[in-house]
Amino acid sequence: MPLPIRPEVASLPAYVPGRPAGGAGGGAGGPAYKLSSNENPYPPLPGVLEAVTAACARMNRYPDLANTEATEALAGRLGLGTDRVALGTGSVAVLYHLLQAVSGPGDEVVHAWRSFEAYPIAVQLTGATGVRVPLTDGARHDLDAMAAAITDRTRAVLLCTPNNPTGPALDHDAVAAFVAQVPEDVLVVVDEAYVEFSDRPGVCRGPELLDRPNVVVLRTLSKAYGLAGFRVGYCLGDPELIRAVRAVSLPFGVSIPAQAAVVASLAHETELLDRVAALVAERTRVVDGLRGLGWDVPEAQGNFFWLPTAAGTATWNDRFAAAGLTVRPFADGGRWDGLRITVGETEANDRVLEVAAAHPR
Ligand SMILES: *Cc1c(COP(=O)(O)O)cnc(C)c1O
Repeated sequence: MPLPIRPEVASLPAYVPGRPAGGAGGGAGGPAYKLSSNENPYPPLPGVLEAVTAACARMNRYPDLANTEATEALAGRLGLGTDRVALGTGSVAVLYHLLQAVSGPGDEVVHAWRSFEAYPIAVQLTGATGVRVPLTDGARHDLDAMAAAITDRTRAVLLCTPNNPTGPALDHDAVAAFVAQVPEDVLVVVDEAYVEFSDRPGVCRGPELLDRPNVVVLRTLSKAYGLAGFRVGYCLGDPELIRAVRAVSLPFGVSIPAQAAVVASLAHETELLDRVAALVAERTRVVDGLRGLGWDVPEAQGNFFWLPTAAGTATWNDRFAAAGLTVRPFADGGRWDGLRITVGETEANDRVLEVAAAHPR
């Protein structure tokens, strides 16, 4: 007898994690660098490590189900009530919960493509159908086309700003105008995983759109806050939606050390944001360098940038690998084949520029 696995699950595309840094260390014999998962290259701040270590002493107990201290810290930081914040084991988990709360078989979820590869998986898991709206030539969301793609069956629209993997951020005014056109019974998920790295004036500020009950903002501690290994993300939204997300969530998902890491990280936010500023400066340096070499790099507002290697994606991926750099290739023969490269250690960024300069594009 076949096992009763739902067809949506049996046919799920696999999430492709960024490969670890290769052991070889590159032709130059130096260290290898992982630039494939948009992680923060800095070690934890001392206060964070100490708080987490102390929290580990309570490992015989279940975590606080309500994530009380972490929720209070995040809500306080954002000037929102605690009834407007729901935590989960990474913002991808929170996205799963959101979609599970609003969509099912027969429904549609609209999102840009190419965009975050977790979206098609999260949509398919609910049994709903994903509606992919192509990016513009500038690697941006086509908000007009996304609005036009909304039908009676649409339950949610996913906006990724800055867009992973291509880099551009949405303009706040454009998102506000978009949201005003979306029916109130359609959720607008504003995924701001990289918002701390956005320095262009006028980029989307999701929390300022929360007066609309159908807007929900997704944030994560994995990128700017450097807590990818602890799996903490959250959403901000209407209290009714927040209750639904909490109801759907796995009980006790966010671990005791992870909750402690959130509280401690927010207490050291100034230092963390100094590091973010240094990464943004590095991003500007590398992207300017690549453009100077003739690469048409789209606007980069996260801690990564897009190299449009098109049909040469595998070749360029090998060139970076030979230099000890693990980057993230996307190659399915479509318009958006290319490499997503994380801004990492200064030496790693230097090496990206060296590889690019060594080969005519
Ligand atoms: C990395 C990322 C996330 C966050 O993932 P976590 O599950 O919080 O680690 C969410 N959205 C996008 C677009 C991302 O790139």
